Amino acid sequence: MHVLILGGTTEARRLAESLAAGTPAGLRMTSSLAGRVGAPRLPPGEVRIGGFGGAEGLARWLGEHAVDAVVDATHPFAGTISSNAAAAAAATGVPLLVLRRPGWVPVVGDVWHETGSLEEAAGLLPSLGRRVFLTTGRLGLAAFAALEDLWFLVRSVDAPQAPAPPRMEVLLDRGPFTLEGERELLRRHAIDVVVTKDSGGQATAPKLTAAREAGLPVVVVRRPPVPPGVPIVPDPEAAAAWITARLYRGGTPPDPD
Ligand code: NAP
Repeated sequence: MHVLILGGTTEARRLAESLAAGTPAGLRMTSSLAGRVGAPRLPPGEVRIGGFGGAEGLARWLGEHAVDAVVDATHPFAGTISSNAAAAAAATGVPLLVLRRPGWVPVVGDVWHETGSLEEAAGLLPSLGRRVFLTTGRLGLAAFAALEDLWFLVRSVDAPQAPAPPRMEVLLDRGPFTLEGERELLRRHAIDVVVTKDSGGQATAPKLTAAREAGLPVVVVRRPPVPPGVPIVPDPEAAAAWITARLYRGGTPPDPD
């Protein structure tokens, strides 16, 4: 059985690691990365890098590589590849599972402003603060480029490119981040508003706690919807169980030795 894991997330890597560690007999897995990050953390097993050429290209790839199941473990904001995966699965009949970490939920003390897009977030900012901690990734910076009166601390894995806000400092870093580190960052840069996508997960959540403690507003960009009708699980363990169940369907699991 050949499983394709659409990746680029911690969860995708953890799924590949847990399958590799337990290596069920008869399972071949390939992880796919978009190739956006210069030096990605590679999962175990076969890895391919780069786009497929839309939903049709992905459907072709599934057929050419005799893929039996697909796990879409991409980032909650990677909406295009998720709808391509749903379309390719529907066209080929290859079963698809979405592995998506749950979104963040506000708790007492949070001052969140939820928006539907980066553009809407940018529109809100002038009424909320002057010194912005922007953690939405380097690719969406154009939405904030017209905010000439605001200062931005932009944190991203790779260096951003124009168009970008004229007054900004770039911090190249990659999670997981610590609460102490996030507190210090907000203090040192006198941040008065934070902008984030609702990425969910633990690795980048400490900024939310640090903002809450400091009484700062947080602009939270909501996720695009998951393609309708596709089963969804919240963690790599559940995805591994889905794969194993398909692998052994109609037969008995081989002896672990
Ligand atoms: P996107 O907008 O949904 O995808 C744009 C195009 O990139 C897709 O149409 C596809 O090209 C290619 N692509 C995306 N993910 C791919 C994958 N896993 N394997 C092969 N091709 C892929 O995605 P994005 O927001 O640019 O994100 C790109 C990657 O970064 C994703 O794998 C995602 O998991 C990861 N990531 C994204 C974010 C975020 O905030 N968006 C954050 C962290 C990590 P073709 O149409 O040519 O197939």
